[in-house]
Amino acid sequence: MTGFAKEADTLLRNELAACERVIRSGSYILGSEVEHFEQLWAERCRSRYAVGVGNGMDAIEIALRALGVGAGDEVITTAMTAFATVLAILRAGATPVLADISANDALLDPESAQRCLTPRTKGILLVHLYGRIAPMNQWRSFCDEHNLLLIEDCAQSHLAMCDGKFAGTFGAAGAFSFYPTKNLGAVGDGGALVTNSEEIAAKAKRLRHYGQSVRYYHTELGLNSRLDELQAAILRARLDWLEQFTKRRREIAALYYSGIRHPRIELLVQPSSQENHVYHLFVVRCEDRQRLMSHLEVCRIASSIHYPLPIHEQELTCHLDADPAGLRHSENHAATCLSIPCHPQMKDGEVNRVIDALNSFA
Ligand SMILES: *Cc1c(COP(=O)(O)O)cnc(C)c1O
Repeated sequence: MTGFAKEADTLLRNELAACERVIRSGSYILGSEVEHFEQLWAERCRSRYAVGVGNGMDAIEIALRALGVGAGDEVITTAMTAFATVLAILRAGATPVLADISANDALLDPESAQRCLTPRTKGILLVHLYGRIAPMNQWRSFCDEHNLLLIEDCAQSHLAMCDGKFAGTFGAAGAFSFYPTKNLGAVGDGGALVTNSEEIAAKAKRLRHYGQSVRYYHTELGLNSRLDELQAAILRARLDWLEQFTKRRREIAALYYSGIRHPRIELLVQPSSQENHVYHLFVVRCEDRQRLMSHLEVCRIASSIHYPLPIHEQELTCHLDADPAGLRHSENHAATCLSIPCHPQMKDGEVNRVIDALNSFA
C-alpha cells in the first residue's frame, strides 16, 4: 500500500484548479458549484435531493425544521454522540430525550428508545456513530409502528450502507457534515442534507437562505447557512476519491480486527457486513484508558477520546429527559473508549506499529 502519495498529488492539483475556477468565476455563494455538488451528492447517496448548508449541525437543525419538528416535540437520540447532535435539536426548538446505547456497538439501543417514548415523541434522530450504520429495517419498523419521523445524523457515515441502501436515505432526511476531518471533508465548514421529498428539499433551501421564497420575499424565519462555492468545488474534487479512501479505511479496520490481541483491550463487535461501517473512527475500550494513552504517547501514536462525557454528563444538558432505566452503557463507554489512528493515508507498516504498541501494553 502506497499511502496514496501519487493520488494525494493529483488530488491537490485538482483542488487548486477548483479554487482557481471559483475565484475567477466571481460567483461565491449559491452558484453552479453548489448546485453541481448537490446533484453529485444526491446521486452518490441514491437520494432524490441534496441541499448544501453551512455545516453538519445546521443540516440537522434545518432537516428538523423543514420536517416541522419544533416546540413541544420530543426527539429521541443517543447520549453517546457529538454535542452538536443534541444542540441541533435544541436549536430547532424541540426537546431532546436521551436514550442509551448498546454496549457491543455503541449505537442507540432500541429497548432504551422504547422506554423514552411519550405521546409527544415526534421522531428518532439516529447517529451512525464512528461510521457504523445500525440494522435499519429494525429502526424503520420501529418508527412506522410508533408513527415517528426517522432522521439520520450521518456526519460520520458517508457512504455507509445497510441492505444495499446508503446512510441518510432510510427516513425523512439525512444530515451530513463536511467538517475537514470527516470522511468527506472540505477545507472549512460545510454540510448537506439529503431527502427524497421535493417539499422538504425546497423548504430546506428556503431555510438555509433567510427563509426567502423569492429573492427578498421572506416566508419563514430562516438561517444564514449556505454551503459556499469554494467548499462545494473542493468537495467535488474530493468526492472522486471517497470510495477509494473508504475502502482503505475498511482495510485498516480489518488489520486491527485481526491483529489486536490483548486481554484488557476490547474491540467493538465487528459489523455483520463490511458495507455497514466506513470507520470514520476506530474505537477500542480499555478500563485502564489513561495508562493506555500514556503508553501510546510514549510509542508516538496519537489517540483521542470520542467522547469523554456522554450528553447527560455535560453541565448544560444534564437536566434533559432520559431513559428512566438510566444510561449506564453510555457512561461506561465514555469512560473507557479510545480512538486509535484510522485514516486512508496510513500505510500497512503504520497500522502494524499501532497493533504492536497496543499488544505490548503492560
Ligand atoms: C461532526 C458532527 C456533527 C456536527 O457537524 P459540524 O459540521 O461540525 O457542525 C454532528 N454530529 C456528529 C455525530 C458529528 O460527528
